[in-house]
Amino acid sequence: MAIIKKAKNINIQVANNYTSISKISHEQSEEVIMEATVGNLELSSQKRAIMQGFGKDSEKNKHETDNKVESIIGDSLTYIFEWVEYSVQKFKKEPSFEDRKNVNWVYEDSKGNRTQLKGKEDKLRVYLTNPDDFGKDYKIFAYLQSLSESVYFKSHIVDELHIVNRKSWKARLPQTGGNYSYEEIAKNPKDYYDTIVIHHSGNAKSYPSVREIQDEHMDKMDKADIGYHFAINRYGKIFEGRPINIKGAHVDLANTAKIGIVLLADLSSDNNGLTGIKKKIEEYNGNDYLTDKMEISLLRLCIYLDKLYKIDKVGGHMEIASSSKTEERYCPGNLTMEKMENWRKILNKKKP
Ligand SMILES: [Zn+2]
Repeated sequence: MAIIKKAKNINIQVANNYTSISKISHEQSEEVIMEATVGNLELSSQKRAIMQGFGKDSEKNKHETDNKVESIIGDSLTYIFEWVEYSVQKFKKEPSFEDRKNVNWVYEDSKGNRTQLKGKEDKLRVYLTNPDDFGKDYKIFAYLQSLSESVYFKSHIVDELHIVNRKSWKARLPQTGGNYSYEEIAKNPKDYYDTIVIHHSGNAKSYPSVREIQDEHMDKMDKADIGYHFAINRYGKIFEGRPINIKGAHVDLANTAKIGIVLLADLSSDNNGLTGIKKKIEEYNGNDYLTDKMEISLLRLCIYLDKLYKIDKVGGHMEIASSSKTEERYCPGNLTMEKMENWRKILNKKKP
């Protein structure tokens, strides 16, 4: 059993078949969002019996519990925890995309009453706002309606992220000597870093690979190595960039104390900063999207880095005061910037 404490004033405990949530103070609590994905649902025949008879009674309880737990489905993510460990052998049938739309969320109050929550697709947002909730334990789990058997979460939290190391993505060795800047930081990274700067790879190419960005930085921009410390692709894969003990090269003249993360996509749908033929080409080519997986990995990476290095500030490249060059003023793109305030709220970090 693991406890996650990111949501303010809410205690979250993770057990095998449900997650329990309780308030730890009378202060207003932050909301919690749960996400169900194929990778974290598993069939549990053991629990099926409990679900029998669940149905009409839940409707009756609905109004009684509405003031205690309210579920709203929305695009904005306020807190994410990911459920990634599952046992493949236990799947009798891989839930399809259609199945996933039929995820039903079930809420059980401290007396054992069950209520089906309003749910859409695979996300659930829960608020615990009633002062009477203080100290009480609520259980929330999900099952898939369209399968003959109930599907439950196996709710283990995995704290460690998987980061694809340089060797695995066949990174080139840094070019050093001469005018190349490849500076090892003098302090312990924990005492050195205080800011995370988020970038997008921009207009050069649609969803480039990390290696393509490294080539661009080394061959066209005369950098010693890829300038960012991490890169995240459209599938949410996280790549190690420049080693963390080497000062980044991702912000003009202000790289000290800043960890650079690049989203491997062109995330400016407004094409701001482009003019003439470049803009026409860009409009013709279309634009990339900030995928859910990218966003989740970015937030998880930020939480992970915060744990390791104690981060104070998180922001987009354009929010760094020294950003003056044309391209920098538009990085990491409008699709990223419209999420930034919400991300800071989730991560509880200041603007740089
Ligand atoms: Zn940038």
